[in-house]
Amino acid sequence: MSPGNPEPGTAGTDLHMHSTASDGALPPAELVHRAAALGVSRLALTDHDTTAGVAEAVRAGEAAGVEVVAGVELSTLWCGREIHVVGLGMAHHPVFDQGLAYQQQQRWQRAEAIADRLHKRGLPGALQGVAGDGERAPGRSHFADWLVAQGAVRDRPQAFKRYLGRQGSAWVRPAWVSLDTGVRWIRLAGGIAVLAHPFAYRMTGAWRRRLCTAFVEAGGEAVEVVTGRTTPVQVRDGIGLALRHGLLASAGSDFHAPGTGLEPGRLLPLPDAVAPVSQLVRDHRDGGPGRAASGAPGIRPR
Ligand code: MN
Ligand code: MN
Ligand code: MN
Repeated sequence: MSPGNPEPGTAGTDLHMHSTASDGALPPAELVHRAAALGVSRLALTDHDTTAGVAEAVRAGEAAGVEVVAGVELSTLWCGREIHVVGLGMAHHPVFDQGLAYQQQQRWQRAEAIADRLHKRGLPGALQGVAGDGERAPGRSHFADWLVAQGAVRDRPQAFKRYLGRQGSAWVRPAWVSLDTGVRWIRLAGGIAVLAHPFAYRMTGAWRRRLCTAFVEAGGEAVEVVTGRTTPVQVRDGIGLALRHGLLASAGSDFHAPGTGLEPGRLLPLPDAVAPVSQLVRDHRDGGPGRAASGAPGIRPR
């Protein structure tokens, strides 16, 4: 890995965003079109615990001249904390695919348990309210929106405070895969594991360094240095984490919906001090050196 940035700048690259395949507001093709209109030429669709939207995004990207990388954002557990791991550039692999099926099952079981708790608190019908067409598993933000629509709460933050958050009355402890196993799934499918939004977790700097050490030991290769919400101070601290732990740097908006203040590709620049993960994704997709056999072009329609 050469020091410095092998790709002059990472403008136009956004490696973290969501569609209606999980809790995003835009269908994959619309998301790609919005990103293209905002100057994004390369993106990863990273829905929560699913790659169901990737095929549509790839097709839309081919038509719009946007390179679409197969992505995912896994919810994992490490030391009792929920840690998100972005995977980039996976191909289909039975262990990875079964892993996603397990995570989806956990999401449905958690949704049923949340709905039960809400029912006991006088709010029946939540599961039907959040199930949609049954294609994508409901997440807590779907419940939050349902609670707002019911008039039970004012807004999403209040929904999390009163019901869905750790202190809320409908809190359900998730049974996500472990961090180690989640990283292993991504690697088995030929993907690169990225520690998502390292400053979004409530933990001390010492715990964050422990987390990075565990992530590297598990096979993680990159850390998200820039997200749509990252401050300049956090970019500096993120670079510090990347250098200290030998991780590549990733940048992704974590865009979910228009009108939230985040937009595809709207990111602080990734400093030259660290190597961007995007180069590795490209080498890997082209079957370049240093990566295991697959050289797969990413997940495509079967
Ligand atoms: Mn989300
Ligand atoms: Mn996340
Ligand atoms: Mn995300």
